[in-house]
Amino acid sequence: MTTILVVDDEPDLEPLLLNWFRRKIRDSTYVFHFAHDGYEALALLQQEPTIDLLLLDINMPDMDGLTLLAKLPALNPFLLVVMVSAYGDMTNIRAAMNRGAFDFVCKPIVFTDLDITIEKTARQVRQRREAHQLKVIDELKTRFFDNITHEFRTPLTLILAPVEQLLKRFRDSAELQHSLGIVERNARQLLRLINQLLDLAKLESGHLTVSLQAGDLGDFVGQIVRAFEPMAREKNLTLTYENELTDFYTFDADKLEQVAHNLIANALKFTSAGQVMVRLSQEAMVQLTVTDTGIGIVPEKLPYIFNRFYQVQEPDVKGRAPSHQFASPGTGIGLALVNELTELMGGRVSVSSVSTRAETGLSGTTFTVELPLSKVHEETGNDPLIRPLLPVAEVVALIRPLHGTAERESTTTEKPLVLVVEDNAELNAFIAGELADSYRILTAFTGDEGWALAQAELPDLVLSDIMMPGLDRPGLDGPGLDGYQLTRRLKTDPATDHIAVVLLTAKVAQSSRMEGLEEGADDYIGKPFHVDELRLRIHNLLARQQALRAHFQQQLSHPNEPISPETVADSFIRNLYTLIEKHLDDSQFRVDELAQAVGMSRRTLHRKLASVTSLNVTDFIRQYRLKRACELLRQGYNVSETAYMIGYESPSHFSTVFREFFGKTPTVYVEG
Ligand code: ADP
Repeated sequence: MTTILVVDDEPDLEPLLLNWFRRKIRDSTYVFHFAHDGYEALALLQQEPTIDLLLLDINMPDMDGLTLLAKLPALNPFLLVVMVSAYGDMTNIRAAMNRGAFDFVCKPIVFTDLDITIEKTARQVRQRREAHQLKVIDELKTRFFDNITHEFRTPLTLILAPVEQLLKRFRDSAELQHSLGIVERNARQLLRLINQLLDLAKLESGHLTVSLQAGDLGDFVGQIVRAFEPMAREKNLTLTYENELTDFYTFDADKLEQVAHNLIANALKFTSAGQVMVRLSQEAMVQLTVTDTGIGIVPEKLPYIFNRFYQVQEPDVKGRAPSHQFASPGTGIGLALVNELTELMGGRVSVSSVSTRAETGLSGTTFTVELPLSKVHEETGNDPLIRPLLPVAEVVALIRPLHGTAERESTTTEKPLVLVVEDNAELNAFIAGELADSYRILTAFTGDEGWALAQAELPDLVLSDIMMPGLDRPGLDGPGLDGYQLTRRLKTDPATDHIAVVLLTAKVAQSSRMEGLEEGADDYIGKPFHVDELRLRIHNLLARQQALRAHFQQQLSHPNEPISPETVADSFIRNLYTLIEKHLDDSQFRVDELAQAVGMSRRTLHRKLASVTSLNVTDFIRQYRLKRACELLRQGYNVSETAYMIGYESPSHFSTVFREFFGKTPTVYVEG
């Protein structure tokens, strides 16, 4: 059904159209509405959002067709317009076409032509509506996947993280190690299965995209292999890893991990004696091979093993696993994923196998994955958006306290303040509990609450979930702030823009990571996370802040190092310097005046400055003045001139303060 609105000031047109199209009207192919001027048309369009097509006269009194045409896109983006104008009125017709009209017909109307034109236009409208619907469904699907992942990963985090903590705490209890080990392995397995299922679904809907990171590929695969060592030991198999790569590569870590993990797990699963060898080399492409000395696969089954849900040995009718020695029944998903993920990354998988049935005594299987990965060049390696996977050595290096922090620790006696914003109360409490020994903790359960707390308390770091429904907000309209919006607020408000933001999320897709980074988030951590990793990331960010603080302090306390507002990179500090400089000789320009000048409350200024420089406002102003004093003295001004120029009312007071700070009087300073 196509709904058509005819806008024409000529009353004769209506009966003519109704007569010509009577059959199509009768069988409901077309529904006609009529308006006799632009205003009536606008009113009708607002009432009837289903109108698909407009037959629009150009020459009408009051509001002409061109004017009405311009108003349409805002009313109904799918609407297509066929202009009706006098024969030869090319100027107006061209204007209408340029403003988005779809087609035109000329008066006197030739009805056969009009018929075809309407049909063609209606088809176009249908296609546009369908395309839009598909897009909406697509977006729904993506959101659904994101939500599902979120729903699964949060509880799994809450299983895995405490188990890890308990495993660490009760190292001495063999019984706990054993039972908790089972919980951990199975929770991980569950997580892996969920991820695999989601990946399959995403592959199907085309939602899985490759997201590249730069990193040490050889080390990355090595870590995956190492995770299998306990299993290999248990089965008495030799597990070896040979890495021939020396360069860094860009690769999709998640997908590569799935591929390698599945191949190695299968190799161990289907091998009862001998060895499993993993090898990484660079031929024309990067090659990952996994070779085992297991039962092998018979030639007639080989072509099918990459099919979804295919298993060489079917489970028996009762759904039990095949009754061979390999207890775990499996799902038949693993190799299908290996294949599809590899293809998605532009590579290919191949397999060669000798089955035990061949009776050569040398059974075994080799899977080879070839991937077109590029080496990392210097420039891309420095791209801040590509976070290298940190090999263990680097991580350790990062934990080591930064140069000079030891002395500084004494000046900041308080632990850093961390605000945790997470709507899942249990997870919130868990994170807070884990961080409580190293930091002072504030917690909030919605984005709005987080924003209010951040403004009031100015924490050093905000750790926020991305997805926060903020549903039960009585008295408030619309959804609450999510993690992105919270980040944006924090990073655009001058009072809070120095606060480090870590986003915590089940959305690990590159696109959402980019979204957060674009809002100014400093780091990301995906759920489920390792508590140690979370700690490390927080530690690193705070260490970076501390290094900056030390830098500012150093800049202020060294008499010979000039400061000019322009050389200070931090806009907040630069702004303060500029303001103090403007009032340099004004002895009345103190904390209150400075706070007012930057548009912050005294308390906010105090806290913000303390967290950026570790200095209180009075000291900050004094130190700036004293440094400028050094410059002025060097330029040849005498002590009393200098004292007045930097806002000291008495030269002797100035001298005392100067000596307290730099350890010598101004006079000595000039001479030395
Ligand atoms: P699953 O292992 O969950 O059954 P996969 O897709 O990983 O599913 O594997 C499909 C089938 O291919 C397995 O059931 C197994 O019969 C066979 N297969 C996979 N890898 C090996 C291997 N290394 N050695 C022998 N058979 C294998």
